[in-house]
Formats: sequence, structure tokens, C-alpha cells
Amino acid sequence: MATLQEKPVPFVDLTIPSDGLRQEIDFAVQRVFAGASFILGEVVNEFEQEFASYCGVKFCVTVNSGTAALHLGLLALGIGPGDEVITAANSFIATAEAISFCGASPRLVDVDPDTANIDINKIEEAINEKTKAIVPVHLYGQPADLTKIRLIAEKQGLKVLEDACQAHGAKFAGVRAGSLGDAACFSFYPAKNLGAAGDGGAFVTNNEELAEKVRLLRNHGSEEKYHHKIIGHNFRLDSMQAAVLNAKLPYLDEWNRKRRRLAANYSEQLKSLEGIVPISILPEAESVFHLYVVRVTDRKKVEVILKQSNIAYGIHYPVPIHLQPAYNFLQQEKGSFPNAENLSDSILSLPMYPGLTEEDQSRVVNALKRSSIPSI
Ligand SMILES: *Cc1c(COP(=O)(O)O)cnc(C)c1O
Repeated sequence: MATLQEKPVPFVDLTIPSDGLRQEIDFAVQRVFAGASFILGEVVNEFEQEFASYCGVKFCVTVNSGTAALHLGLLALGIGPGDEVITAANSFIATAEAISFCGASPRLVDVDPDTANIDINKIEEAINEKTKAIVPVHLYGQPADLTKIRLIAEKQGLKVLEDACQAHGAKFAGVRAGSLGDAACFSFYPAKNLGAAGDGGAFVTNNEELAEKVRLLRNHGSEEKYHHKIIGHNFRLDSMQAAVLNAKLPYLDEWNRKRRRLAANYSEQLKSLEGIVPISILPEAESVFHLYVVRVTDRKKVEVILKQSNIAYGIHYPVPIHLQPAYNFLQQEKGSFPNAENLSDSILSLPMYPGLTEEDQSRVVNALKRSSIPSI
């Protein structure tokens, strides 16, 4: 069908959404140049204090990615060779990679088909004498059921490290992600709800000992230059990234409110459509909708119509961890985690970002309405 191409609806828009913020970022970046301190330093300390307080925890240690935060967090928790760490089968690969790079093995657990978060009822059967920790992933911005996960962890003597890389500002039972487990990890990858102008991440906790371990590990095991207590890494955050994050953090709640409003509107409009079901949100959860994801019966058909309408979309994620070539060695064939596998075949992420206009959102909804009319 040769129609006039409509203006594209992007999947995300990473341009700076307000003139005021653009000036604040310019000012913050100029301050870094003026101070000529480019790695860690005062600007990074400031952000660490602000972000800890935002999460409602005592300590924040920044690093250069969410992956690094998970890696160092697990090391600080004492995870090492021979250990198993429980996590969801459908996360971004970084969650499993961090476990692997500690020398431990990810023990994958299937997910709930409605929320796409780890299935609480399948955690206990995955626990054995090697299990040391659980890494629940707050997928798409919705916290996993940390009330139940903590009960299991306490009973079994396991640590809980939240993968909150998609959940800045989300809440479960009124408590912010980041303060629900023993510690939590965030990513400031540009497209995340709080994004830097490059890579960045943070480890947050109320446990001073864990925070100090991560602080050493991120900077060659040293507190004082050229004196090294332990063998560490170079996983430090740049001052430039901290400057951008400092400027953006005060806007995060407003952006999350906009995301929630857009999500509520999508859910309302899609309610009556056959073959399109939004990922469900638990009553105790306050999602920050890093992504707005629906399950569709006929994904090929929906994809064709979205493409024809010049609407961008995503699939998060098309291949579960156990079916990735990198994790062949786990020897978990197709069929091992049916819910994660079914989701990867049926999910679709719709355009979602604070600046998404009502007009563009209507175009997405209308395209989905067309795709849900049963074909003859
Ligand atoms: C983004 C992300 C990560 C990794 O963060 P990076 O900053 O890209 O290293 C880990 N886990 C989840 C669930 C993510 O979405």
C-alpha cells in the first residue's frame, strides 16, 4: 500500500526536554571545566548525596555503568566462584553477566506471565546449598514483589540485591526502589528514566560496610592515591556525567509522573482491544514505566501496521537469557522457562518518554485499533 509516509513517532526522545534544564546542564558542565576535576571529586560526591537521599538510603556509590554496579555489588556481598545467584530469566543480559563475572552462576527462575517479573512461587524450588543471593529485576519500571522476596531471603539466609536499573523512583508498598533489599543498583544509560550523557551507574545501600567495599572496588582498591588495600577495578564515574545527573535529578519525579499519566492513558484506550493486553501492575507497585509493554496475540501483524504508520517500537527482550548463545552452557533448552519464552514471542514496547505528545500517543493507539480488527 503506497500511502504518504506520516511523520515518525519515535520510540524515545533523548533531546533535553526543557530550555531551563539545558541551561542548567551547560552551567554544570562549565563548572566541571572550571574546577578541572574530571573523575570523581566534588561534583560526583554531590550527586551521590542527592541520589542517596532521593532513594531514601544512607549511601550511594556511583560507578561507570549499571552493569558495574551489579558486578561490584555482588562482589561486596561476597559472591564468588561456586555460588549461585537467583535472577529472572527475561532480564537484560547485564544482570546475568554481572553474576558470571563474579565467578558465580546465574540460577534463572521463570517469570509471572502477567507482570513479567520473577515468579515468587518459583524462587524457593531454585534454592540449594550453593545459593547466596537473589537479584530481583524491576522490569519495565515495576518493582518485583520485594515484600515476599525479602521473606524468602530472610528464611533462607540469602542476600537481596535489587536490579533497579529500570526503576528510578518506583515504589513497592510505598517504599522506593533502592531501599527494598540489602542494596540496589541503578543505571544512568541515556535512555533510562534518569539518564546521563553517556554511561553511568550507582550502587545504593543502608549498609556502610557494603558501601565502603564498593567504594574501594570501583577505584583500584584505594582510598588514598597509590595505596591499594585490595585488588579493584577502574569503574569510576566521570564528573561530566555527575554534572548532567545533578542537573536532571530534580526533574525525575515530574518525568515519572508524565510517564505514569501516559501509561494510564494507554491502558485506558487499549482496554477494549482484543489481542492486546498490557503488562499488569501489582496493587502494591508504583511503576515508573521505563517501558510500556503489551502482550499481543499476533505480533507480526501489529509490527506491520506500526511500521506502515511510521511508529517506532521495541521488543524487551526478544531472547530470554537461557536461550542466548552466551548462556548455552547453562544447558537450559527451549521449554525450560515457558512464561519467559512466551513473553519474548509476544511482547511489544510502545513509544514511551516524558515528552510523548497526546497526538502521537493517539496515533499509536489508532494503529493498534486497526491491528486488532480481526482480518477476514
Ligand atoms: C540497563 C540495564 C542494566 C545495565 O545497565 P548499563 O548501565 O547499561 O550497564 C542492567 N539491568 C537492567 C534490567 C537494565 O535495564
